[in-house]
Amino acid sequence: MIYLDSAATTAVRRDVLEAMWPALTGQFGNPSSTHDLGAAAAKMLADARDTIAAIVGGRASEVIFTSGGTESDNLAIKGIALAAPRGRHIVASAIEHPAVAEACDYLERFHGFEISVVDVDGDGIVRVEDVAAAVRADTTLVSIMYANNEIGSVQPIAPIAAIAHAVGAVMHTDAVQAAGWLDLDVRTLGVDALSISGHKLGAPKGVGALWLRGSIPIEPLIHGGGQERGRRSGTENVAGAVGLATALAIGERIRVDATANTTALRDAFISRVLATVPGARLTGSPTLRLPVSASFTLGVTSGEAVVLELERRGIVCSSGSACAAGRDEPSTVLLALGLSPELAQTALRFTLDASITADQLDDVSTALRDAVATVASIA
Ligand code: PLP
Repeated sequence: MIYLDSAATTAVRRDVLEAMWPALTGQFGNPSSTHDLGAAAAKMLADARDTIAAIVGGRASEVIFTSGGTESDNLAIKGIALAAPRGRHIVASAIEHPAVAEACDYLERFHGFEISVVDVDGDGIVRVEDVAAAVRADTTLVSIMYANNEIGSVQPIAPIAAIAHAVGAVMHTDAVQAAGWLDLDVRTLGVDALSISGHKLGAPKGVGALWLRGSIPIEPLIHGGGQERGRRSGTENVAGAVGLATALAIGERIRVDATANTTALRDAFISRVLATVPGARLTGSPTLRLPVSASFTLGVTSGEAVVLELERRGIVCSSGSACAAGRDEPSTVLLALGLSPELAQTALRFTLDASITADQLDDVSTALRDAVATVASIA
């Protein structure tokens, strides 16, 4: 099998699992317990927090462990908005993940917030001037994702953060897809809050983190024993936290070399698909995109049918985001690019990983050409 759906999820890396093993076995204590087993767990949790803080360039006390990207986004959006001393206006892009978009909708419906949705250009990039036009004196929060999960487009976070700060708003970015591939340094990005998720980069499902600048007040979503400095109660997922920190640290170590290599392979793959698959068009930006992302529309052939046909040939990819799969509506991200609903139904998404080879990608492009021909012949 050639797995090209890392944007949906990844396998747990062996080295990550090995790092987690002690927290699941011999050192299984509750970090809040005062005995030695508890202290050992607390130490592992603290080390994981230190590792993540170092990678994002923040303080350990600013890392809040969560159950994943969805919770990190919800905590950021609702938690920051509800605790904000001023304003009831939020700015977000038209291509945010549902974890951000739906959290904004909730604030609008139940808490009287007003949401301004900023469009993207045809390449799926937020225009900085559109954010500048959308922010107001009462803007509480600006949330723009770092990299998109369907089309891989990478957003100009630093200038957008500067605009948010100029009106006194907090800047959040969903870095779930960016983690492992792009620089997560919050000082360079200029953000105040950043969401990450373990299972997109070789750690298990069910763990994530929100980095939140210490000076920013937050209303917790989960109340209870006061763990995570009262910002997220519940006995900590120590093994998950260790896994997340380990995966991030590995990602950070190999990121620069892996990026150069994967970007070259991605570009060769995209060129080959565009040259050999009739009707194929790239979605998203040719250059401002994640090194691992290759997404297309096929013109007339159903993306879903081609996904099934490719799977018969041992290749796993997706017709859109895993979160939207199974729904019949066309992707809001693709509609935001200006694509028609019919064209959006022909979308196909491949997400590479650092282990992919040129030969494998050649096989995939040939299989794609054949799969499209097969689906077209029976349509
Ligand atoms: N944000 C983005 C950009 C994502 O791609 C995802 C998952 O697909 C999430 C948030 C949600 O993360 P999780 O699956 O860890 O809840």
